[in-house]
Amino acid sequence: MSTLTDTHVYGQSYVQSLPLYIPGKSAVSVAREHGFEESSILKMASNENPLGMSEHAKHALAELAANPSSSYPDSEATALKQALSERFHVDSAGIIVGNGSSEILELAARAFAGNGCSVVMSQYAFASYSLATMAVNATPVVVPAQSFGHDLEAMLEACTSTTTLLYLANPNNPTGTFLDQKTIRHFLRRVPEHIVIVLDEAYAEYLCEEDQSCPRALLNEHHNLIIARTFSKAYGLAALRIGYSLASKVLTDLMNRVRPAFNTNSFAQAAATAALADEDFVTLSREINAAEREHLYSAFDAMKLQYVPSSGNFVLVRVGQGAQVAQRLLERAIVVRPMASYELPEWLRITVGLPEQNKRLLTALQEVL
Ligand SMILES: *Cc1c(COP(=O)(O)O)cnc(C)c1O
Repeated sequence: MSTLTDTHVYGQSYVQSLPLYIPGKSAVSVAREHGFEESSILKMASNENPLGMSEHAKHALAELAANPSSSYPDSEATALKQALSERFHVDSAGIIVGNGSSEILELAARAFAGNGCSVVMSQYAFASYSLATMAVNATPVVVPAQSFGHDLEAMLEACTSTTTLLYLANPNNPTGTFLDQKTIRHFLRRVPEHIVIVLDEAYAEYLCEEDQSCPRALLNEHHNLIIARTFSKAYGLAALRIGYSLASKVLTDLMNRVRPAFNTNSFAQAAATAALADEDFVTLSREINAAEREHLYSAFDAMKLQYVPSSGNFVLVRVGQGAQVAQRLLERAIVVRPMASYELPEWLRITVGLPEQNKRLLTALQEVL
C-alpha cells in the first residue's frame, strides 16, 4: 500500500542526470541479435587478451571449483596482496584489491571527492573517470587533449583550490598515447599536494620494461599518489573482475573505509595470485601484441587510414563514419568499439588480436570501406 503517486521522482537530481556507461558489446548479445554462433564472433571491442589467461590461473580456478567453499572470501585478499607486495617491493598496507581497477577508480572518487569538489581529467580519457566523479556529485573538469594525448600543462592549470582528485591514464585508453616516465615524474612533482592523483596503468604490462613505471620509487616520492593496475588486460582475467591499487598507507586506509567488505571473490583472488606468478605468459602477450600492432599499422597505411600509434593492446583508427563501419563489421560477426561517445565519431578502437583474427578483421574492413 503505497502513498506515493506514479509521478513521484525517486533519488537525487544529480543521480537522475547521470549518463549510463556503454560497454563494448558482449559476444552473447551480438550472437543473439544477429543470429550467429557465439563461437564465430570475433570480439575486438574491450581490449581483452586474445591469448586467454595463464595456465597457472586456469589451474587455480579448477582447483577451487573442485573444492568449492561456502565461506565468504578473504576480505583482505591477503595472499594476493602478499604476492603484489613482493612483486613491487611495497608494504601490503599500501595495497587495495578491487573488483576490477574500475572499482579502485570509484573508491578514489568516493574517498576523495564529493559535492563541491572538482576532479581533473583529460579529454579522450577513460569514460569511468567522469562517471565515477559524477556518481559522487563532484564536477568533472575535462581538459582538452593535445594530439590525442594529455595536455599536462593545461591539466596543471585546471587544478584549483576546489580540486581534490586528478585522473591520469598512462598509456591512455582509447587513444593509446603514452608519456615517458621522465615526463610523468616531472608532472607529479608539480601537481599541488592537496590533490590526490590516480595514475591509471591498466596497460602497463604491454609496455617494454624500460617504459614501465617503478611504483615503489613513485610512491616514495608522492604521498598523494594512487597507482591503479588491473588483471583484466594483459593477464586475461577480465571475466573475474580483479584489479589493485598501490598507494601510501594514509590514502589506502581512507579508500578501505569506503570499500565494500567482500568486494572481490575467492576465484578472482586465486586466479590473480597464480597469474601474477606466470611472467612468461605476460611476456608472450606483450610480444605478440607488439608484433601484431605493427601488422595493423602496415595494413592501415596500405589502406590509407589514419591511426594513432598505440602503447596498448588496441589501436584507434579513422574510418570515416565510425558507427556505420562498426555496424557493418558487426554484420560480419566482428565487434569493434565505435567512438562517438568519446567525441571521436570518425574513429574506431580496435583491440589487437592474434594473427588470424587480425587478418579476418582487415579483410572485413576492406570489404566494408
Ligand atoms: C580496462 C581499463 C581499466 C580497468 O578495467 P577493470 O576491468 O575494471 O580492471 C581501467 N582503466 C582503463 C584506462 C582501462 O582501459
